[in-house]
Amino acid sequence: MTTMKAVVFKGRGRLAVEQVPKPRPRAGEALIRITTTTICGTDVHIVRGEYAVEPGLVLGHEPVGVIAELGPGLEDLYAVGDRVIAGAITPCGQCFYCLNGSHSQCGGALGGWKFGNTINGAWAEFLLVPDAKANLAPIPRGLADEDVVLCPDIFSTGLAGAERGNIRVGDSVAVFAQGPIGLCATLGAKLKGASLIVAVDTMRKRLEVARQFGATVTINAADQDPLPEIRRLTGGRGVDVAIEALGQQETFENALRSVRPGGTLSSLGVYGGKLVMPYQAFHAGLGDQQIVTTLCPGGKERMRRLMAMIEQRRVDLSPLVTHHFGLDQIEEAFDLFSHQRDGVLKVALHPSFHVDRATRLTGERAMDEVC
Ligand SMILES: [Zn+2]
Ligand SMILES: [Zn+2]
Repeated sequence: MTTMKAVVFKGRGRLAVEQVPKPRPRAGEALIRITTTTICGTDVHIVRGEYAVEPGLVLGHEPVGVIAELGPGLEDLYAVGDRVIAGAITPCGQCFYCLNGSHSQCGGALGGWKFGNTINGAWAEFLLVPDAKANLAPIPRGLADEDVVLCPDIFSTGLAGAERGNIRVGDSVAVFAQGPIGLCATLGAKLKGASLIVAVDTMRKRLEVARQFGATVTINAADQDPLPEIRRLTGGRGVDVAIEALGQQETFENALRSVRPGGTLSSLGVYGGKLVMPYQAFHAGLGDQQIVTTLCPGGKERMRRLMAMIEQRRVDLSPLVTHHFGLDQIEEAFDLFSHQRDGVLKVALHPSFHVDRATRLTGERAMDEVC
């Protein structure tokens, strides 16, 4: 039996780099050799035991790679050696939910999210992609792994927060939390034509990046209560659209309190436990507000669109990839990312590469040496 290197979830707080069986693609499936992947905030929830997955699973849901093997039925569309990505969400395209337009809920609640949730994920040398016809998206010529590694999840999710909030040209928007997804939501608000874009976070460095990504006003919630300032900026009304991008009671509540009557709260966070809706902010249920939630949109057409935005230089996500590691350095990478040390936004993991701790590089120079 052929094996491959993979990062296996061993139960709460434990990850291990192990040799596991290398999968073989069946009809409609493709095997891709992973060249770059990354760690998501959701993976941190999994490892901390806040979101349950089965021990023994290979984690990771953000794959960039090269087609290594094709199952029957894909020969006309793809070739071995093609550079591709697949979304974090891999809808089948044929079930009740997919055919009703809820691709992320393929087969049932959260069902479109398969990699590193219900099937083995991308923190490995190879990844088996189900329903490849619906999910493998060729990477445009000229784009590096680093350019597209945030398309499978972060860019798709953050942008979807703005899309689902139905932002109109001239809208005022507040985005609560400026982690990688919040930053992409800020970018999404700009792309959708918002006028006032208020970015809220407690880390100065992240607020600086938020400015680059389109925020017109930044508020450091460690220094001041964002709500009076948002009311002042909106003539006392509140914003048209608030986006929550952290998944905590405080940010959810602030987002709700910052929305004007008739406005929209677009929620992206992953929550645990019970979420409380304050009576006043909810206007006793009579405020005509909309609350919408979003799981990352996936599928190859979504991926094509996102990569087209990068190819046409409408967006540049490279400032978000701040660190590079080999896959066998997962412990170090996970520790840095989960504790938000060293100004980290996203770490790139490269399965076939080992970055020496002492000579670890960041940014473009590292990618030149990686690829
Ligand atoms: Zn994710
Ligand atoms: Zn489906």
